[in-house]
Amino acid sequence: MRLKNVPGSREAIAASRFVIHDPQEHAGKWAEVFGRTAPLHIEIGMGKGRFLMELAARNPDIDYIGIEKYSSVLIRAIQKMEENELPNVRFIRMDAEEIGEVFGPGEADRIYLNFSDPWPKDRHAKRRLTSRQFLERYEKILKPEGTIEFKTDNRPLFDFSLEELEPAGWQAQEVTFDLHQDERLMQNNVMTEYEARFSAAGNPICKYIIRRRNSEEKQDKDK
Ligand code: SAM
Repeated sequence: MRLKNVPGSREAIAASRFVIHDPQEHAGKWAEVFGRTAPLHIEIGMGKGRFLMELAARNPDIDYIGIEKYSSVLIRAIQKMEENELPNVRFIRMDAEEIGEVFGPGEADRIYLNFSDPWPKDRHAKRRLTSRQFLERYEKILKPEGTIEFKTDNRPLFDFSLEELEPAGWQAQEVTFDLHQDERLMQNNVMTEYEARFSAAGNPICKYIIRRRNSEEKQDKDK
């Protein structure tokens, strides 16, 4: 979702109190930023923030951090926050590759990935946010029982993402290839911008929820 350059977006982001400008300084101490101890959920590649802000409004007891790489996109989320401020939301403008420097070990409870860029060329596979390289980064910052939820309409990306689980030491708790036809998994579903667009066009939406293989199962498999 790289928009054309939005004039003034960098300056507006630099001045925004909803954006954490020195995120590395808060690694392991995000509770201080929110002024309370609460579960911490992160969305990576949040785009304009529709999903994150809807979740945060529904779940005031959870703290949310939205990560977005591009200023031209993040500025839209900031504008929404200015209209309807949520105390349990903060944003970071950064590349998710640096996520391990921004959160302490086991600090996060959940990570959301929605309609992540597919990087279709094989040589770019490690840039996909569901690659084993990224799963390794997430493993460090998630609690042992922490989960990752991923939605996409891109079937090749979803198939790749499922194949990455086993070698990376993760297992699927839920998998669907057509979320909107799955009554149980649709309970409490919050639509993202891309989900609204692609499901309206008739594309089935895939979703997984994954967690780490517990150490005993892992040892058995590795024998
Ligand atoms: N999640 C939103 C949705 O479902 O409507 C936006 C999906 S859009 C296709 C993907 C978003 O992820 C873009 O806004 C892009 O800038 C962001 N993004 C891609 N790679 C990223 C990375 N490595 N770190 C942070 N954000 C990233």
